[in-house]
Amino acid sequence: MKFVVECFGCRSNQAEVQEWIVELEGRGYELTTRAAEATFGILNTCSVTEKAEKDVLRFIGRTYRHTGVPWLVAGCTVSRERAGLDQKYRSYFFFDNREKQRLVETACELFPVDSRLIYHSAFRSRVFLKVQDGCNFRCSFCIVPALRGKARSLEPKEVLAKARRYAGLGYREVVLTGINLSSYGYDLFPRQTLLDLVAALQHVRGVEIIRLSSLDPRFIRYHFIKELAAMPKVADSFHFSLQSGSDAVIRRMNRGSRGAEYLRILSHFRDYFPEANLGADFIAGFPGESERQFQETVAFIQAAPLNYLHVFPFSPRPGTKAATLEPLPPPVLRARAAELKDLGSQMKLAYRDRCRGKIFSGILIEENPHYALVVTRNFLSVRVPPLRGFKKRKLHVRVERVVNENLCEGKIA
Ligand code: SF4
Repeated sequence: MKFVVECFGCRSNQAEVQEWIVELEGRGYELTTRAAEATFGILNTCSVTEKAEKDVLRFIGRTYRHTGVPWLVAGCTVSRERAGLDQKYRSYFFFDNREKQRLVETACELFPVDSRLIYHSAFRSRVFLKVQDGCNFRCSFCIVPALRGKARSLEPKEVLAKARRYAGLGYREVVLTGINLSSYGYDLFPRQTLLDLVAALQHVRGVEIIRLSSLDPRFIRYHFIKELAAMPKVADSFHFSLQSGSDAVIRRMNRGSRGAEYLRILSHFRDYFPEANLGADFIAGFPGESERQFQETVAFIQAAPLNYLHVFPFSPRPGTKAATLEPLPPPVLRARAAELKDLGSQMKLAYRDRCRGKIFSGILIEENPHYALVVTRNFLSVRVPPLRGFKKRKLHVRVERVVNENLCEGKIA
């Protein structure tokens, strides 16, 4: 029996979907990319911005009208819009964030298979592993805590068991994800830390690279960086949730930090990881952001040892404090987002240019008769000539040419 999947949103959503796929394949269901072949579909949803939620609702409406396949729909949009969805899409099955751990069991009850076959669909190289969910912070623009609940962590032994299982299935890179990954372990007794977890994962055979999806600077201490640098499997790329470089805006975001503190942490990372690919999230056009405060963020980015940006135009989420504030005029918001995205593109190209001629280890993620694609430890996508059945997943590549801000070309070294 075949099933199809679709995933909107964050890496935690992707990790959940990857886990559901592996679980169902282990029970004799076969993943397909064509909805027309599928007996049922699985959708994980996102409501972090207005646009994200609109895209999800448009997708649900389209599949309902055109595919005739029942979908199991989970996640943040269900947590926000449950009643309306139940009403409108009666042949679909909805799971909010508390119910979604029942999704696989429900699929097996609804669509039983009598098969002892086990399928292996995805080209297994990199896997997202969700180790933490929820958040105890209340950033004034963020709807996530209301949708995903309090911060909670997976017990280390469960994380290690999942990592071993994924390694056994052929995955060589594990990307640790969470809604606030840096808060991992604070809710456990005895208390654990993300550092403890990464240290334990070093010993999982078959896992070559451990990548941290996103870090919250409020949790990062000097020793975390120093000890992380001594762990051989830790990837050479780090992503930070910063949101603004202006102290006044950071305060209005209720993030309880300052630009100078962010800069101190970023420069420590640069000291211990001189070649690392460092990136950060920024919100453009937060309500009340004056031109001078916006320029403070631009100056912050230019002073920080960052190599790329993820830029999000401010999106008011009903139920958040920031949604009650006077928004900036849309042209100003768009112009600031465009300026930051431009700056981010220049930084990405400059970083890739500095990587030309250098050799990096990485994981093979795609292979076809025309080329092979490797994701390096420092998170570059490098296209190399076809490998002709070179099965080894961990490779060394020399970067030779920058094709664009998202792709380099090179050779196996
Ligand atoms: S830390 Fe802030 S932005 Fe991140 S999930 Fe929590 S409330 Fe949202």
